Order: sequence, then C-alpha cells, then structure tokens
Amino acid sequence: LVSKLPDVGTSIFAVMSQLAAECGAINLAQGFPDYDPPQVLTEALARHATTPGHQQYAPMPGLLRLREQISRKTALLYGVTPPDPDTEITVTSGATEALYAVLAAVVRPGDEVLVFEPAYDLYGPAIRLQGGVPVYVPLRLPDFRPDWDLVAAALTPRTRLVLLNTPHNPSGAVLTADDLRTLGRLLENTATLVLSDEVYEHMVFDGRQHRSARQEPTLAERSFVLSSFGKTYHATGWKVGYCVAPPQLTAEVRRVHQFITFAVSTPTQHALADILADTSLYTTLPGFYQRKRDQFAALLHATGFELLPTQGAYFQLARYQQLSTTDDVTFARYLTREAGVAVVPVSAFYHDGRDHGLIRFCFAKRDETLVAAATRLRSPR
Ligand code: PMP
Ligand code: GLN
Repeated sequence: LVSKLPDVGTSIFAVMSQLAAECGAINLAQGFPDYDPPQVLTEALARHATTPGHQQYAPMPGLLRLREQISRKTALLYGVTPPDPDTEITVTSGATEALYAVLAAVVRPGDEVLVFEPAYDLYGPAIRLQGGVPVYVPLRLPDFRPDWDLVAAALTPRTRLVLLNTPHNPSGAVLTADDLRTLGRLLENTATLVLSDEVYEHMVFDGRQHRSARQEPTLAERSFVLSSFGKTYHATGWKVGYCVAPPQLTAEVRRVHQFITFAVSTPTQHALADILADTSLYTTLPGFYQRKRDQFAALLHATGFELLPTQGAYFQLARYQQLSTTDDVTFARYLTREAGVAVVPVSAFYHDGRDHGLIRFCFAKRDETLVAAATRLRSPR
C-alpha cells in the first residue's frame, strides 16, 4: 500500500505517553488532567448509563437538549444571539472529529488553508488528506503573536480557510479582539472561511478575556467555532465536542459528520446536558489553572528552565539551553528517561520539525504531581 501520509509518523502525544509508561515517568507530555471530572458530571453519567432508553443512537446532530444548553451557554458567555440548536450546532466526537468534519466538508483538492505554526499536530495531515495545501505562517517568538502582514501576504484567491487556535496549543497565546477584527478586515469581500479551534476557551489568565470568532461580526458569518467538553470538564476520555456555525456551513458539516461517526455517545450527551447550565463549573477555571501555572513556575524557579509567558490553555513552554545544547527531541527523550518527567518537544508542532530549543509541559496536574515532577527535574535520576 502506498501511504497517503508517507512523511507522518505516530502522533507525538501517543509516542511520549508510551515512552512515559515504559520509563515510569510522570507524564507532563500529553495534555490531560490527572484529576477527575466534577462529581455531578460523573454521577449524571452513571445515572444515564442505566436509564432505559438512553442506550441507543442519539440524533445525528446531537441530543436536542444538549444543543439547547450549548446555545444558551454560547449566548450567555459571549453576549451574542443564541445560535439556533436546529441549524447552527452539531455535537461531535471531540473537537478532533469536528476539525476533521469541517476540513472534509470545505477543503477541495488544491485549496489552500492558512495554518499558524507551531500548530496542533492534526491540522496539516487532515488538510492534506482532503487534497488541500497547508500554507504555514509562523507565529512570532517569544510571544507567539500572529504577524498580520505575513497573513495578508499569504492570503490568495485560493485560500479556502484560515485556521485559528485561541488560546493556543502549545504556547498559550490568546488572540485579542483587535486580532479578530484585523482578520475580519482582511477577509472582507473574500470567500475565505474560518475554522476557530477554541477548545481552551475557559483557560485564560491574568484577567484576560477569551475572544471567540463568534463575537466578531465580520468573522461570525464565515466561522466554524469548535469547543471540547473534554477540556472544560476534565474529561478528555469522553470525547465530546461541538461545532457552532451559521446554518449553511452547519449543513455541510453535518453532511460529513453523519458519515464519520453518525452520532455521539448518548448517555454522555445526557450527562453533559444535565450540568451545562451550572456556570460555576467553568467560571472557576481561569483561577484554577492560573494557580497551577504559577505554582509550577515557582517550583521550576532556579532549575535552569527558562519559562516563556503563558496567557492561557494548560501548557508551559520552556527553554533548556542552560541544561543542554541538544535538539528538543533528544532533550525531551532524555528528560523522560533520565529525569522521569515526560514532555513534548515543540518541533513536533512544526511541519518541517523546526527546532527552537523549546519543550512543552502540561500543568493540568494535581499539586502533588507538579511537586513530584519538579523534584525530579531538579535532580535527574
Ligand atoms: N484542538 C486542540 C488545540 C487541542 O489541544 C485538542 C486536544 N488535544 C483538540 C483540538 C482535540 O480535542 P478533543 O480531545 O475534544 O478531540
Ligand atoms: N491535545 C492534547 C495535547 O496537545 C493531546 C490530544 C491527543 O493526544 N491527541 O497534548
């Protein structure tokens, strides 16, 4: 068989989690919490898992009661007109499926898709599987801000889609209202669409506000906005996310979604619908994660890791040149094997493996896990 993605290996997240398991390392590589979802949510799931009638296929676009809750939440959170549950909201198997469904729905062979780098690892391969051409625009180090002049220069009549990710994985950088307005201006009078990956929407620090593409009028009409309950409710294993988009765009997403997964697990959707109206479950997240960010930074003080500023999400980038002059992949493997702490090399987020000498820690961990990891990082085994 001739591979369709001959240059693509196993995802770095799978590779580093496997290596962490083999080495008995603390896994700060793959992004997932080591604490459980809120008890009200797991209890709701237990209830629905034994409720007669909740064990068969959910409706293709998602349970109506969950889509209604998503609509209310979106309006409340972003001060926008509630998206219509019937025509503008689709529940997907994680943001992963939403990303894939949107790309498969809109990208044709030869279409260009603008992707900021570093980028989440599925973007490039998923675009290429549609015959699309990823056009990579580098974010500026050390703050990982977009350079809008570079964006303007990269846009062509063939640009089908611009892919945004805010808060950004792996850097935590957060786009501002000005950024979204600038992009809106650049896309005015074009047929270019926007895919806005906002899975870390509730993790923004230092008083910042997450700005959704849905809030920028010039973008809302052309945007697919994605989120993930996995991130918001510490339940990455549940794989439930959603896509909000205007009716015409939603219709195209559903055309594809119905043939990827058809529908998403019924009892998990019921459980999420039960708790979505409780705003305290997500309004507490900025404080919760900011404290973890600051605790982890304090623990790594004077260890030789130089931490980059983190505005959002649950990742901390670090330079390590005081400790080693090797490339980031070698250093990530060394830390996993020798220090017993697994991390991700940031070159994995560049299509050409560009090495900026940076590693990524995930700080979505219990306090004692962060303390244990820092102890190991201070004195490698
Ligand atoms: N986008 C980004 C930027 C992510 O970090 C993740 C989670 N790793 C996803 C999408 C996928 O989300 P889900 O787990 O809901 O499929
Ligand atoms: N999004 C997670 C991360 O960046 C991993 C998800 C996955 O393993 N595919 O670490």
